[in-house]
Amino acid sequence: MPELPDVEVYKHHLEAHGMRKVIDHIELRGADRMLGDTDTRSLRKRLEGHSLTGTFRHGKYLFAHIGGNGWLVLHFGMTGYFEYGDDGEADPQHNVLVLYFKDGSYLAFNCRRKLGAIALAETPEEFIANKGLGPDVTALSESDFSTLLQERGGTAKGLLMNQELLAGLGNVYSDEVLFQAGIHPKTRLDRLEGSRRKALYQAMQKVIKAAIAAEAEPERMPDDFLIPRRGLRNAKCPFCGGTPKRISASGRHAWYCPCRQPEPE
Ligand SMILES: [Zn+2]
Repeated sequence: MPELPDVEVYKHHLEAHGMRKVIDHIELRGADRMLGDTDTRSLRKRLEGHSLTGTFRHGKYLFAHIGGNGWLVLHFGMTGYFEYGDDGEADPQHNVLVLYFKDGSYLAFNCRRKLGAIALAETPEEFIANKGLGPDVTALSESDFSTLLQERGGTAKGLLMNQELLAGLGNVYSDEVLFQAGIHPKTRLDRLEGSRRKALYQAMQKVIKAAIAAEAEPERMPDDFLIPRRGLRNAKCPFCGGTPKRISASGRHAWYCPCRQPEPE
């Protein structure tokens, strides 16, 4: 499922393949339930004959500036990504929105399970406020993070994945952040000491930065990451050689190392 690092990579794809080219026409296919407040007609009107001129990401949302015509907003749900080509037609399978450019190239939003979203916004700020999203993980200061932990508390995994408190982390990266910080997914964060709050903040920034540098590809991630080992049989913890375990935490399956991340008392 695309999380902050994946969406940052998609932002790079959009910048490389979708910018400053006039959109000849768009095609929407089976996207009805992803459109929310917008509709096909509004999307056509805003996009056709215009160019995308800039990008912005907040949490798991990607924004594309449509000249002076507002912003196109995409959420990738469980399975979304971009396909692009220099000529011809986009594969009709699962491509819910295709931008056909006047130069013959195209950019397609592929979303097989249709759990993503396509929206229009006047500004990213307005959209973020309406959605009630918390600050982006990469824009949050250490002191604001520390205050958040003390004021909101709750369990570690639940807080890290709550988009209204902190935008960007989902199931996979919240596990990685907790693994790197040596914190059990069920630890109550309001009881965490100052030095461990700092360690958690640093682990979060380190994980996001390294994942973006690896273009969110598990096999390119640092050797001590849990992500490439998730769900593998005979996986070994890179720190202690033990076997990572899966538990249910905050309604999701969390992977962790019982040795490195001892259960809270
Ligand atoms: Zn371990």
